[in-house]
Amino acid sequence: MCEAPLVGKGLDLGRLPLSHDYHLFGDDDTCQFVPFDLVQCPKCALIQAREIIPGGFLVPKHSWIKFSEPETHIPSLASTIVQILGLDDLTKIGCLSSKDESLALALKARGVHNFWKIDPLKDIGFEGNASGVAWVKDCFDSSFARHLRSMHGGTDVFIARHFLEHVATPSVFFDAVRQLLNPGGFLVLEVPDCEQGIKRIDFSFIWEEHPLCFTMNTFQRMIYRFGYRIVFSKAYRFPNETCLVAVAQPYADLSEREAAGSATTREFEAFEEFVSGFPNRRKQVRMFLEKWRLHGEVALYGSGHHANTFLQVHNVVDLVNIVIDDNPAKIGKYMPGTSIPIKSSTNLLSDRVVLCLSTLGFEAEARVLEAARAFTETGGSFQSIFPKSKNEVFRWLAGPKSSV
Ligand SMILES: [Zn+2]
Repeated sequence: MCEAPLVGKGLDLGRLPLSHDYHLFGDDDTCQFVPFDLVQCPKCALIQAREIIPGGFLVPKHSWIKFSEPETHIPSLASTIVQILGLDDLTKIGCLSSKDESLALALKARGVHNFWKIDPLKDIGFEGNASGVAWVKDCFDSSFARHLRSMHGGTDVFIARHFLEHVATPSVFFDAVRQLLNPGGFLVLEVPDCEQGIKRIDFSFIWEEHPLCFTMNTFQRMIYRFGYRIVFSKAYRFPNETCLVAVAQPYADLSEREAAGSATTREFEAFEEFVSGFPNRRKQVRMFLEKWRLHGEVALYGSGHHANTFLQVHNVVDLVNIVIDDNPAKIGKYMPGTSIPIKSSTNLLSDRVVLCLSTLGFEAEARVLEAARAFTETGGSFQSIFPKSKNEVFRWLAGPKSSV
């Protein structure tokens, strides 16, 4: 954000398997690995990956790999946007990726109909999996914005949910959007929050696709730094994650930058505590799983990036027997870089599993917990890898709380 050198020591996790690089054989050694070293800028306090992985490397090889974001807050966010910005049927709205479709639908239901969205094939010539944003993250610059403007004209509102955390050079993104917007236009941003993870010493937010890890403070400071004033901002809190939303408008007077403020001592202390808490948390997680393994098998529920990070960062690949996922495309494959098989949920009952750890978002977690009642009612323990506080390793959901 501020271009200060990233000189400090961070949380160097070495090389992690690419989280969507599932493979067909347990002894496959072709898995791709990426470096992950999480550092904090000593000047602006932005938490970020020291090395940023190019989008071309992150595009999923398989068409069946999908990305999803929390959606519960979308109706409320749409109502707020219509109310604050006074949108009507003449308002032209641009959307960056498929992640913006749900908000577009909610705005349509509220009487706004004039939309356009970047077309991977027509606008970029991209033919691969465009479910995430790896295909567009490195090409969204001023010349691309001029191309979009020539196709769609000026835009009153541009929506980019869950994009900013992926980009290597945020100033380029903010400059590009300024070229897309009509005078008085607005940018709607949403990013995942990492502050809860930092406070709870919970490493599961770490993901190779997110080189930028925001707190509300760094998110807001970045928006002001790159020439926008915030007209609405809110943290939408869910049990396992928080989404930071801002609606912002370009300003011309550089003195408005002052409103950004600067990093506080507390922000640096929080990251230091997080990094120094790592060895102990890793030990606690291993010990917890070792105790359960004395009684039977351990399963993870969900095979997405949270599961991959959990296994690798805590060094517990040898303690997890199976990963449960009902996606037919994933069943029968193996977790990236491991020989842990992915199996359907029927295996929760038949495979002697005593502990099942959910790696799911809160919406899926509630559904799965209900469906897994037969497992917990016959003595299985269901817990979440996302703890509620820094004093617990996991969040208990159902069944026995401990192995003793
Ligand atoms: Zn900085």
